Amino acid sequence: MSNKIQAVRGMNDVLPADAAPWQHLHAVAAGLFATYGYRELRLPVVERTDLFRRAVGEVTDVVEKEMYSFTDRGGENLSLRPELTAGAVRACIEHGLLFHQQQRIWCSGPVFRYERPQAGRYRQFHQLDVEAFGIATPDVDVEIIAIAAALWRRLGVGGFTLQINSLGTPQTRAGYRAALLEYLRAHEDALDEDSRRRLGSNPLRVLDSKVPATREIVAGAPRLLDHLDAAAAAHFATVRRGLDALGIAYTVNERLVRGLDYYTHTVFEWTTNQLGAQDAVCAGGRYDGLVEHLGGPPTPGIGFAIGVERLVALMGLQGAAVPAATPQVYFCHFGDAASAQAPRLAEELRASQPKLRLLLNAGGGGLKAQLKRADASGARYALILGDDEAGRGVIQVKSLRGEGEPLTCGWNELAERLARLLAARPDAT
Ligand code: ATP
Ligand code: MG
Repeated sequence: MSNKIQAVRGMNDVLPADAAPWQHLHAVAAGLFATYGYRELRLPVVERTDLFRRAVGEVTDVVEKEMYSFTDRGGENLSLRPELTAGAVRACIEHGLLFHQQQRIWCSGPVFRYERPQAGRYRQFHQLDVEAFGIATPDVDVEIIAIAAALWRRLGVGGFTLQINSLGTPQTRAGYRAALLEYLRAHEDALDEDSRRRLGSNPLRVLDSKVPATREIVAGAPRLLDHLDAAAAAHFATVRRGLDALGIAYTVNERLVRGLDYYTHTVFEWTTNQLGAQDAVCAGGRYDGLVEHLGGPPTPGIGFAIGVERLVALMGLQGAAVPAATPQVYFCHFGDAASAQAPRLAEELRASQPKLRLLLNAGGGGLKAQLKRADASGARYALILGDDEAGRGVIQVKSLRGEGEPLTCGWNELAERLARLLAARPDAT
């Protein structure tokens, strides 16, 4: 028993019965992003470890504790990507996509973090990323947030809270950091251990600690928004006005931070109260310093990452409509003459109705056995072709779900009859 091969802890299979919402999400997202002029960038799953050290930051949990790093056979230090933005920036720099031009891109795929697996938190999970490079003005902050809002609408999911905050610029943040550090040092004894450690390296991270005692201290801390300079305050005000104009509701959460210096201005997070403790479905922000930090030309950037598992879970909980993926038609055939004709008939049907989901019986079996498979497949109709029908150029169409009496029709009218029968009831589960 114990030597049965199993998946790696925290890494999940998506079984065929569960794949429909994933496919739907990707189709809807790709279509939606295109309507905003965002094009897909496809990235490798593995990058040099250094990229993530520099992009995500040495003193983050992700890099300190969660990366899947290894040395390859050539002695290179590589890592499975723990997020997508770093690779996107690397690719854009490497291919010269950022010189005097704007880029609107999206990417998606698996990412890896060695976390403690629990509901909504896995070691392999999937992200859907949208990024805009080369635009410093707040209009694109609004656009990026609006894309997420539009995605929720198109998917038919809702009930999110959008939290936003502004981190200002690295210069204004330095002044804030000093004030925050002074305050936190005065309350050092009451902080949790991780937070105490971060005082020396990354005190802003203490602001989003989830430890209750630390949160109490944080509640009385100096406010980052009070330290914004005039330009940063104006940027934030313009983002807020832009969201208001689009009717996108938000709350300002001063504790929402990104600890790294290249994060600037707007940060945001979409959360839900329907998924328990892992409540963040989408997180993003502006990172005007990142491209330069990774060796590219000074280039503003902003983007977000959606946690696909959490969004798919929410689609399920909220009963979001997902196109059906089960077969519509099961084609039974028996007898040499019939079985010789069936594959060609099936190909013709699929060609004439490109979206028809038609399962052709394989593996032989009598009519009874084939009808049993047809029923188990979930199909609405069975096509039945025996040697007698094959000899006459006809076929039987039989409802498997009590939708009317069986009928017999000629091969030449089959495609049309079938289309009409299937259209008689909308096809969604
Ligand atoms: P969290 O606070 O939940 O750890 P995070 O701040 O680490 O999230 P990001 O790095 O901003 O998350 O990633 C973007 C999104 O990816 C999150 O909002 C969440 O939906 C999802 N996500 C993050 N970590 C995991 C994980 N281990 N398993 C599944 N989804 C995750
Ligand atoms: Mg995390």
